[in-house]
Amino acid sequence: MSSENIEKNLDFIRTRVKEDQESGKNKGAVHTRFPPEPNGYLHLGHAKSICLNFGIAQEFGGLCNLRLDDTNPVAEKAEYAEAIKDDVKWLGFNWEERLFHASDYFDQLFEWAKDLIKSNKAFVCDLSFEEMRKARGTLVSPGEHSPFRDRTIEENLDLFEKMKVGAFPEGTKTLRVKIDMASPNMNLRDPVIYRIIHKDHPKTGDQWKIYPSYDFAHGQSDSIEGITHSLCTLEFEHHRPLYDWFCENLKIHHPQQIEFARLNLTYVVMSKRKMLRLVEEGHVSGWDDPRMPTLQGMRRRGFSPQTILDFSERVGLAKRENVIEVELLEHCLRQDLNKRAPRRLGVLNPLKLTIENYPDGQSEEIDAVNNPENPEEGTRKVPFSSELFIDRNDFMEDPPKKYFRLAPGKEVRLKYAYYVTCKEFLTNEEGEITEVICTYDPESRGGDSPDGRKVKGTIQWVDAKTSTPTQVRLYDRLFSVPNPEDTEDGADFTENLNPDSLQVIDSCLTESSLNEMETGLPFQLERIGYFCKDKDSVSAGQLILNRTVALRDSWGKANKS
Ligand code: ATP
Ligand code: MG
Repeated sequence: MSSENIEKNLDFIRTRVKEDQESGKNKGAVHTRFPPEPNGYLHLGHAKSICLNFGIAQEFGGLCNLRLDDTNPVAEKAEYAEAIKDDVKWLGFNWEERLFHASDYFDQLFEWAKDLIKSNKAFVCDLSFEEMRKARGTLVSPGEHSPFRDRTIEENLDLFEKMKVGAFPEGTKTLRVKIDMASPNMNLRDPVIYRIIHKDHPKTGDQWKIYPSYDFAHGQSDSIEGITHSLCTLEFEHHRPLYDWFCENLKIHHPQQIEFARLNLTYVVMSKRKMLRLVEEGHVSGWDDPRMPTLQGMRRRGFSPQTILDFSERVGLAKRENVIEVELLEHCLRQDLNKRAPRRLGVLNPLKLTIENYPDGQSEEIDAVNNPENPEEGTRKVPFSSELFIDRNDFMEDPPKKYFRLAPGKEVRLKYAYYVTCKEFLTNEEGEITEVICTYDPESRGGDSPDGRKVKGTIQWVDAKTSTPTQVRLYDRLFSVPNPEDTEDGADFTENLNPDSLQVIDSCLTESSLNEMETGLPFQLERIGYFCKDKDSVSAGQLILNRTVALRDSWGKANKS
């Protein structure tokens, strides 16, 4: 790409970073961070933030830190922290030795809080959260000063030290900064910066009985790490004055906070809190349920990091809230899979097919193309014999005119193998078709026409003896409406769950080479869709496949008619 093109493509954040770098701000340094709170698993929205922060650092010759924003031991768990690290690595980003925790800075934050007390800018308040809420005023009326606002510096210091060691019960005291109870920005109305929480912390154990607020920890953590550009989502826009206030009043390095719009996607909820509910209430099998927009779920479903990076780049950066259609994600997914996914054979709904003129007891190995998009991937051997299975949908007793698949008297190509012609079919007592009897043309080996005669239909098949009984899990959208939060009469978003988002088919058959397929690595079952082996295959002692995505978008058609 020419440098001119790069410039043309710069979004508003990159433009700003570039200007700062060129003007010599921060001595030209660019240092970003990705700061997740370890209170849940990362989702696609986080991936966007990861791509942005690590991407900018790479593009501008800077650095990006991973910082776990672990200031609230009530909701945070080591399990989440581990998964976060795993996900960032999986996406292909590297924080090198710069993994930090907000809790690394608890001592420094405590000192800074005392500095604010000493300069008469902070006080210990005895109001309950409820009383504080009442005294806070509204958007059109100012709040009232706390009756504790004028405590002496000595008293405040003494009380704050006692809060730290657990002298007071939870909820009985907070530390607040004195800013402006009449500010039109509610965040500046003497906000709480420390609250009492008698809970052990995954990193600091029982050392602290007080924990800093997000606002008091975040900007200062940025400052300590020498962050130059603190990129966050729009809901923090009204926190920026507070971010700036702390940097100025503590006289510390002042990073620039810049906000961008969250990534929202249709047919999913993209909030850890809501996802936690889906998990806890059993609507999904876990955070890594393949229907979840978590990175672990998407991975299990067969997404590659490339698809997510590609998607992230395509959605770009916006200053306003917006919702991206899930079709764009699926488009990126199919494009990637079409190039990358090896092809395999399988049938979801098996119907026996017997070739009566194929020598009894004989079998052979057919060469099947691994990926028509990439000839370098070559071919593989697939067993073939007189007893096969085809998909029930590929046979009709009494077909309409334009049906090019198998029917009595009709000839089709068995993919990569031979031409076969249907002679008759067998039924059971209920009249259900149980078997199709065919003859094959030995001259058509490889699926090529022996004499120029054409067949219109090509169908997939598996060998009866060697194929693998397989469970297939077909996923559809987790919610049945584009915006799950949009409910009638204040109903809960779970009312919008799609009851058919998972369909399990137990009696599928797939070619034996799939047994060796790596878990999570997608392949295409020809004519059916993209799939990958699920991790449950091991515990279940059976091959279980997740459908990554159907070959084409059938959703729009099915639901718009
Ligand atoms: P959630 O609302 O899902 O709980 P969060 O914003 O509370 O997410 P954090 O762990 O605080 O999650 O987020 C870490 C970083 O990821 C933050 O900088 C946040 O702004 C960013 N982020 C979170 N959700 C999105 C999203 N949907 N799109 C883009 N960035 C996001
Ligand atoms: Mg948050």
